[in-house]
Amino acid sequence: MIPFLDLKAINAQYRDELITACTRVIDSGWYINGNELEQFEQDFASYCGTKHAVGVANGLDALILTLTAWKELGKLQDGDEVIVPSNTYIASILAISANNLIPILVEPDITTYNICPDKIEAAITDKTKVILPVHLYGQLANMPSIMDIAKRHNLLVLEDAAQAHGASIDGQKAGNWGDASGFSFYPGKNLGALGDAGAITTNDDELANTLRALRNYGSHEKYKNLFQGVNSRLDEIQAAMLNVKLHHLDEEIIHRRKIAEAYIEGIDNPAIILPSQQDKNHVWHVFVIRCQERDALQNYLAENGIQTLIHYPIPPHKQQAYEEWNKLSYPISEKIHKEVLSLPISPILTLNQAQEIIQLCNNFRKK
Ligand SMILES: *Cc1c(COP(=O)(O)O)cnc(C)c1O
Repeated sequence: MIPFLDLKAINAQYRDELITACTRVIDSGWYINGNELEQFEQDFASYCGTKHAVGVANGLDALILTLTAWKELGKLQDGDEVIVPSNTYIASILAISANNLIPILVEPDITTYNICPDKIEAAITDKTKVILPVHLYGQLANMPSIMDIAKRHNLLVLEDAAQAHGASIDGQKAGNWGDASGFSFYPGKNLGALGDAGAITTNDDELANTLRALRNYGSHEKYKNLFQGVNSRLDEIQAAMLNVKLHHLDEEIIHRRKIAEAYIEGIDNPAIILPSQQDKNHVWHVFVIRCQERDALQNYLAENGIQTLIHYPIPPHKQQAYEEWNKLSYPISEKIHKEVLSLPISPILTLNQAQEIIQLCNNFRKK
């Protein structure tokens, strides 16, 4: 069987380095907000090309706390509108609702699956304050156009970069386009911890400073609370794991790209639509194909030993959590959710395994 993502085997590559890092933390006697976090924040900011990275407990908190910080700084207030893609993972939308802001769903482009700039422009009202583009599946949204729209309408931009560590357009990386960006280091992400972790990147000193307080009870100084903050810290053990894995991220992206190239060159079946890549910026967090007979294709691959997943089976507006949207129609998202299928891709999937998957895809529905 070829599993969708073999995390055990991925982390086994770095077993000795991870154990050394873990031992260093155990022996330090310092487990929260210490040297490992500081090192990771510096190195991750430098990797993204930003002035700051602020570690938090997970990717959802990275998005929630950035919007909260903007409220604390007087840039947002309850009821302001935030434009977000209608086909994103639910976390992007939860971050907006959690701050008493209003998510405005905007449909994606059917070829890139990322938010469509023309439709953003049409959705802007007097209440719009933020655009929250998502670099879905590992490909940057159309950031040059989005930043241009934001500038013309005086809007803030919060990138959801949870799936796009290292993706770039013209050398400018995910996390360094908007006013701030949220990253997740959930174990299955391209840069994954061995537990939960997240970070915000930004070039804004005041925002970074506010976030450092918000993640720590609203406090810079012990027992002195500036904001009604939360406890959302990236602990030393996870920071140490990320310090190891950050150094291997670029080589892993190169491998993901080789697998993706093999799929794109090898898969040739009129029933299957391949992903498009703009400017080769894709880091292939997931390799998403489309097929009108998606469920049949998934079953066929499973019968032949290939595990696939669906990102995502239910669009946000059809979720019970957002019942008020259930009757609304977002036809492009609905089509995407009905047809997408993610093939295995990872730093340890071999080209031989990719060839096996390609052959099966090409034989699907062939007489
Ligand atoms: C994973 C993910 C998140 C949330 O990250 P967690 O660390 O799981 O909280 C947010 N947005 C997108 C697009 C994601 O893929």
